[in-house]
Amino acid sequence: MSEEPDTPQTRMARLILALRSQGVTDPRVLDAIEKTPRELFTPDLFKERAFEDSALPIACGQTISQPFIVGLMTQALTIEPRARVLEIGTGSGYQAAVLSKMARLVYTVERYRTLMQEAESRFKALGLTNIITKFGDGGEGWAEQAPFDRIMVTAAAPEEPKKLLAQLKPNGVLVAPIGKGPVQSLRRYAGDGQGGFKVELLGDVRFVPLLDGVAREL
Ligand code: SAH
Repeated sequence: MSEEPDTPQTRMARLILALRSQGVTDPRVLDAIEKTPRELFTPDLFKERAFEDSALPIACGQTISQPFIVGLMTQALTIEPRARVLEIGTGSGYQAAVLSKMARLVYTVERYRTLMQEAESRFKALGLTNIITKFGDGGEGWAEQAPFDRIMVTAAAPEEPKKLLAQLKPNGVLVAPIGKGPVQSLRRYAGDGQGGFKVELLGDVRFVPLLDGVAREL
């Protein structure tokens, strides 16, 4: 007798259990991940693997982050429903879509036009109207829309991202992978209300680098 293939619901339930067992326990975060169809953000070639807890390749040599890392970073951001959140590195749009379920407005910046446009059409198809996109160099942040309650950087910054920290509200939180090598340290900066930050290390991660300027190719 052949086994029934798993339904998407079963696969998602298994993924949520895996995230929970690794410490992503905030029910709002798990709920946002559960409601975001990762298969729609994954290229056709890898759709079968959309429910696996692994990073996957997308266009332009970039990656869609591992669900556990999305969960960990989203949880660390401690988002309130009224928050305006800036994301650097739209990529597939998956992380922005998860954030959009928890925040009032999500601003997201990408340096590849192709990725930006594909992400925009996914947001449209899913009816995610609270995500605002921009093609540009995310290292510069988004001065016209600053200050932000929360900032998430989803590409590895070589060092402390001072320009982005300057676009955070005094009590804001920024989460970013920091480091120049293939393995970076995930850091959480929490504003102390007086211009200073409390820095917390959340573990080692592997992100593609935050590059200067916009991509000349598509
Ligand atoms: N958040 C994405 C994963 C991002 S991968 C997702 O959920 O799919 C990192 C992304 O950051 C890539 O798409 C890369 O092109 C982008 N990136 C790198 N440097 C950047 C910069 N300076 N400004 C904007 N985007 C940048």
